Amino acid sequence: MFEAILIEKDDAGYRASRRALDEAQLPEGDVTVKVAYSTLNYKDALAITGKGPVVRRFPMVPGIDLAGTVESSSHPDFKAGDAVLLNGWGVGEAHWGALAQKARLKGDWLIPLPAGFTPRQAMEIGTAGYTAMLCVIALEKHGVTPDRGEVLVTGAAGGVGSVAVALLAKLGYEVVAVSGRPEEAEYLTGLGAKAVLPRAEFASPGKPLGRERWAGAVDVAGSHVLANVCAGMKYGGTVAACGLAAGADLPATVMPFILRGVTLAGIDSVMRPKADRVEAWGRLARDLDLAKLGAIASEIGLGEVIATAGRIMEGRLRGRVVVDVN
Ligand code: NDP
Repeated sequence: MFEAILIEKDDAGYRASRRALDEAQLPEGDVTVKVAYSTLNYKDALAITGKGPVVRRFPMVPGIDLAGTVESSSHPDFKAGDAVLLNGWGVGEAHWGALAQKARLKGDWLIPLPAGFTPRQAMEIGTAGYTAMLCVIALEKHGVTPDRGEVLVTGAAGGVGSVAVALLAKLGYEVVAVSGRPEEAEYLTGLGAKAVLPRAEFASPGKPLGRERWAGAVDVAGSHVLANVCAGMKYGGTVAACGLAAGADLPATVMPFILRGVTLAGIDSVMRPKADRVEAWGRLARDLDLAKLGAIASEIGLGEVIATAGRIMEGRLRGRVVVDVN
């Protein structure tokens, strides 16, 4: 038997609970992993609370991230005792996930635990941090270098935002953070932001084009926030868009794109090819100040997962949440 969070949906409604499950219930897969740590991302919170259509099959064990040790494997790349990492691939959405002491997965979804990280540190970063790295790499690939000017990060006190601020600051960018929580300003300047702007400046419908301010941007919000970010980009700037914390809509015009040559770079972490994942984790090992992770991450146990998911949906959590499943 092992402990897990289980989401069910039936005549009695949509609910999540902590349960003891039998190993025989695990889905098919060629690698069984003893999970050391998982995390709580925004997507996990959507799944657990049922506030977004994340879960595609019931019952479902949520959890899109894990770090752990291979218990048994028939996959050629992994053997018992290997330290492994998983982010995404529909795990916790369509395949039983990582908020559990055990998971059975496809070996093709796993990568070796990146050098330089303990399992806990890898989960302090988690999908949110790896996505922040993908956003930064996208800005670099589009020529956004530190000398081009200020770079904006929205939802800055959240998981993706916190890691993006820390990464960009370490890489020498002038980072301006956007947050709906003025009380987190000191936290954000501690991560390296040189200024913090209120979310309200971006949250309402704005002009198609505004003053040219930002050389690059990482946006986790979507909706009016993303539209206003695009409208404030400098000529030739790039916005890496990865999230929908404000909404999935994009009430924008084409003006920033056709008059200023702005690039909107879409970022998906879930189905990202293995080579990109290995590159991103290698870059995290090099470019993230691990000392900052202490301020970014907090730890909970499996028993606190359901209540904490509710707090994430209320936007009351700061940074990243690591789950010690044991
Ligand atoms: P968090 O919940 O940790 O952070 C989200 C942050 O967004 C909040 O902390 C808050 O920051 C801000 N926010 C909340 N509500 C609103 C709002 N109504 N308008 C504007 N900003 C808001 O989530 P994550 O960092 O884990 O994820 C952020 C987004 O990125 C989510 O939408 C998630 O689904 C998406 N994502 C996408 C991935 C991909 O592969 N494309 C991978 C990972 C995440 P503050 O209080 O500072 O304003």
